[in-house]
Amino acid sequence: MDSKCLNCGVTSDQVVLMSCQYKGESLFVCVKCLPVLIQGPH
Ligand SMILES: [Zn+2]
Repeated sequence: MDSKCLNCGVTSDQVVLMSCQYKGESLFVCVKCLPVLIQGPH
């Protein structure tokens, strides 16, 4: 299974990825991008 961060595209070989759901789809986001998604772009 090839899971990549939806924001920056890194794989779970490089960083910790978190599984999440959005609009019924399973997505992955890395720990670096998670705060960005929570806070939104500045
Ligand atoms: Zn990322």
